[in-house]
Parts: sequence; structure tokens; C-alpha cells
Amino acid sequence: MFITLVAGARPNFIKIAPIILSIKKAQLLNKNLHYRLVHTGQHYDKKMSGDFFTQLCIPDPDCNLACGGGSQAEQTASIMVRFENDLLQFTPDLVLVVGDVTSTMACTLTAKKLNIDVVHVESGIRSGDKSMPEEINRILTDSICDHHFTTTLTANDNLLLNNVSKDSIHFVGNTMIDTLLSNLTRIRKPDFWDTFNLHKNNYFLLTLHRPSNVDNPEKLIKLFESIIKSCKGVPIIFPVHPRTKKIMESHHINTAHFILIDPQGYLEFIYLVKFSKGIITDSGGITEEATLLNIPCITLRNSTERPETVTQGTNILVGDDLNQLEFCLNDIIAGNWKKASIPELWDGQSANRIVEKLQCIYS
Ligand code: UDP
Repeated sequence: MFITLVAGARPNFIKIAPIILSIKKAQLLNKNLHYRLVHTGQHYDKKMSGDFFTQLCIPDPDCNLACGGGSQAEQTASIMVRFENDLLQFTPDLVLVVGDVTSTMACTLTAKKLNIDVVHVESGIRSGDKSMPEEINRILTDSICDHHFTTTLTANDNLLLNNVSKDSIHFVGNTMIDTLLSNLTRIRKPDFWDTFNLHKNNYFLLTLHRPSNVDNPEKLIKLFESIIKSCKGVPIIFPVHPRTKKIMESHHINTAHFILIDPQGYLEFIYLVKFSKGIITDSGGITEEATLLNIPCITLRNSTERPETVTQGTNILVGDDLNQLEFCLNDIIAGNWKKASIPELWDGQSANRIVEKLQCIYS
């Protein structure tokens, strides 16, 4: 079996790493399994891409399509044109895509138009919010791919509601959690920890990159003011996503009250998550990591495609409600927060289940 694996952006690298490891384990057992890793280049910065390959021991990609930058449409188009060339030159038995980024959707469309099977890892999650580019990517990918690997039974239900055939849905758990569990003993204190005199359980961690939060500078300024006021002097560490940085710089937004740092490597970032007092974020993946590590998490969105992080985990959605944000931060500071239980099959074995299933289906 010959698989083309696709990865394009930061969360993709974290989801694909354990799948590559499981393929390598199967190869050692003389299984007839070969792969080609295609990096679309959607994230190209060393801090958003290269560092993850090094830290998570992901082999160098066999090919980099270098499709960074541009509008959603420009990027989709350039990924499709370049990925089509790659598929025609090295035609696989199947393409495996992960997550919900532009690369996920663009590579799925390209492969299906060439009649190549596609399997989607992290299939079936839905926020119900079509203003998010990721939701469009999820819907399109899931509607045409051949096999759906899901992280939760809620995702199975979402697919069934969309008339996806039951036989193509495989509940395997969460490969992002595989990566988290297998790297917990490797996490690293960041170099700036001592410079800023940080202490465990005595800082907040902030991440922001969704257009709904960062594209409107007035809204972003109000959000920053509210966070600073409600954190009551507890240090706020803010690894700044390139998209957010561009907006902060072009509008000269005052960020003096934050500890601003570059996007962190995975091992440093998970260290910061694990020892934080709480997290303020609009990320999806980070809410899952906070749940697994039992760290209070406030999400600045009205909806989530990961409802288990709210129903079972440590996550609370506050949307745009700054009063609710203040209320939640008060609770975290006072030590009042719900405890998480771990969602089913978030046990570190998901990638192994995926690779076993693929061998049953395609061998
Ligand atoms: N992450 C990281 N360094 C950072 C910020 C995030 O390694 O500075 C990791 C984080 O642990 C999680 C993933 O990146 O595994 C989440 O990516 P992001 O928030 O960009 O995407 P989303 O999950 O919202 O799609």
C-alpha cells in the first residue's frame, strides 16, 4: 500500500507525527506500507513549521509545494495545481489528510478529481459556524472523502446526520492527544522562563489567531483591555501568531502589559500549558490539550467543533462577552474551576488504530 500523507499547517504537523511513527512501526514488522509526505507550505515560517519537524521527529517532507500566503482562493488554487502534479507523478493508493485547514480541503478535492481515495483524520467535527474557513473545509472534505476517522462519537453522529455511510466511519480517538501523551516527558522549560521570573501556576497563557477576534483592531484593543484588567496583575504570556502580529503592528496596538513571545516550539508550548494557571484562547487544539492536562481554559468563541472539551473537559466558551470573561478569570484566580474527565479513546493509541484499519481496508 502506498499512501501520500498531506500536512500544511502547525496543527497538521502535530496530528500527522504519530501516524508516521505508526507507519514506521508497521514497516519494521515487514508490512507492505510505503508513504510519501507532502508539505503544502501553507505555514512556512521556521517557528510555525520547521521547528515542529525537528521536535516531533517528523522526517523531512518528500516534497514541499511552497504554497504559502495569498487569499483563501489563491492558496486553494495553488495547492490544487501543485498537488495534482505530485499525484500524477507519484500516484498513491490513497491520500491521507488531517484536520481542517485549507490544505486539507484543497488536497482532498484534487485527489478525488483524479479518482484517488482520500481518508480524513479528525473527520466529523462541526462548529455549525460557516463564517469560519475551517468549517467550510470540514464540510467539503467530509462530503467527498472515502473513509472518516473520528475523534469522538459526536463526530460519528454529525457524519451520520450528513448521510455519510456508517461503514466508512471509524472511531479511533485523537492523534493530537497521541502526540501530547508521548511527549509529556520531553517538554522543555522555555529559555525566557527565568528572564521573566515565571513561576508554576502563576501566569495565564493567551493565544489568539481567529479572524473573528483579531481582524478588527478596535475589537482586539477592547479584548486586550478586558483581559489585562481581569487578570489582576497575574502575568500573561502571549505567544503571538504571525497573523495577529501583523494586525497588532500595523495598528500600533499597545501590548505593554503582556509578555509577548514568538510562537513556541511544541515542547516549550506544552510546558507553558501544563504549568499555567489558566488558558485564554481561540484555538481548537489547545482546548483539547487543556482538557487532557486538566488546566482551566476560556475560549473566546461562541461555538466549538469540540463540544467534549466543554461537556467533559475544562473549557468554557465566553464568545464576545467581556463580563463573562471577567467572571471566568475571577473564578480561575480564586481556584474555582471544573475538573476534566478524559474523552473515550483519547489514550495515545489512535494512530496505531488508524494504521491497522488502513491495512485492513486497503491490503
Ligand atoms: N502550539 C504550539 N506553539 C504555540 C501555539 C500553539 O506548539 O505557540 C500548538 C498547540 O499545542 C496545539 C496546536 O499548536 O497543538 C494548535 O494550533 P493552532 O491553535 O494554530 O490551531 P487550531 O487548533 O486552532 O486549529
